[in-house]
Amino acid sequence: MIVFKFGGASVKSAEAVRSVAGILKKYEEEEIVVVVSAMGKTTNALERVVESYQKRDRQRLDHEVQMLRDFHMDILNKLFEKGRYPVFQEIEDTLRELSEQLEEEPALNYDYDYDRIICYGELLSSRIIAGFLNSSDIPVRWMDIRKSLKSDNTYREARIDWELSTRLAREHFIFRGERILLTQGFLASTINNQTTSLGREGSDYTAAILAHILRADSVTIWKDVPGVLNADPKYFDDTILLEKLSYLDAIELAYFGTGVIHPKTIKPLQNKNINLYVKSFLNPDARGTLIGNFSYDKLVPSFIFKMDQVLIRTSPRDFSFITEDNLEEIFGILHKNGMKINLMQNSAVSFQMIVNNDKRKLHLVVDDLDEKFRVSIQTGLELITIRYFDQSTIDRVMINKELILEQRGVQNIQLLVRDLK
Ligand code: ASP
Ligand code: MG
Repeated sequence: MIVFKFGGASVKSAEAVRSVAGILKKYEEEEIVVVVSAMGKTTNALERVVESYQKRDRQRLDHEVQMLRDFHMDILNKLFEKGRYPVFQEIEDTLRELSEQLEEEPALNYDYDYDRIICYGELLSSRIIAGFLNSSDIPVRWMDIRKSLKSDNTYREARIDWELSTRLAREHFIFRGERILLTQGFLASTINNQTTSLGREGSDYTAAILAHILRADSVTIWKDVPGVLNADPKYFDDTILLEKLSYLDAIELAYFGTGVIHPKTIKPLQNKNINLYVKSFLNPDARGTLIGNFSYDKLVPSFIFKMDQVLIRTSPRDFSFITEDNLEEIFGILHKNGMKINLMQNSAVSFQMIVNNDKRKLHLVVDDLDEKFRVSIQTGLELITIRYFDQSTIDRVMINKELILEQRGVQNIQLLVRDLK
């Protein structure tokens, strides 16, 4: 058995869904667990639904829901030009269920509401894709992942209950004549059956969890890029496709933010020595990237660029040193406001962190810090991480940049810079 994951761009249109069917036909001999995430930018749209629902902005809410409906109906109509199939009713039912959710009184717990609404992206996409595959002579069973993956109630960042999920998933994911079991990524539920989600982009992680539990032979993540590249082509010419990557390199690259694979994906696979392929759904016969238990003699440098970074400098107002209790306080404030640190550095009397420019969170964090610390911020910066760096790779990225701060390890270097152009 193998696991495939399709999501976002690889299921963003009727044409993309057709290529999913094309790929599955190529793997005729295999039993496949297919994990899908929401179509195109649906999750972002649903985040706007949650926001207007929580603010009780009925007009905007109705508008957003209508857009969501139109987007999915349009794909459905393009996929089934010649007639109506049961999937039309399933989509109507799913959309009605969403409307019923939105009739309820908003909860005080934003994250709880978020999860019970955000799940409709995956529910709709999995219904449409399963319906289309079934009508294309690819017999598929649709499964609700929330019956198999159980988590705690940390809404939006739920932690999997591995023991319970292992028991349930092994009981449910059994092939009975169909060659494909198709389910949703990104979602789980509590033991009380409240929907939870695993964090944005979490459906790669779902594929890895299922592969681990069901002892899959391999996982393939189908994307709109040829595989894992050594840099984002947006910021770099002559990128190189990394044909083979060790688990460790994959974790490091994901952690620093390549964005190609979700960082949590690797661990469950590494533990069971399961290979992970990253391939292009536009060019399914190309080799892509293979991530596994490798070592290699030629280390290719990789570059990760994070734009729109903010440097926050703090120093205690009472001129004391930076100590464990100061740090505890600073980390506490960032954690409370859900702000992640991309890089940190300290001296005797100041502590500096680099974060993404999320204006709402930044405002809250600075307000909280201001009580005990002198705070200054610098915006408009870029954070460049180079794995397997040497002087020539540093020189290459430093053209027309001013260095603000640097952190060097044995394998990685991180450069916080300002663009001089
Ligand atoms: N649909 C979810 C998101 O956009 C999960 C995923 O795509 O992996 O974050
Ligand atoms: Mg995605």
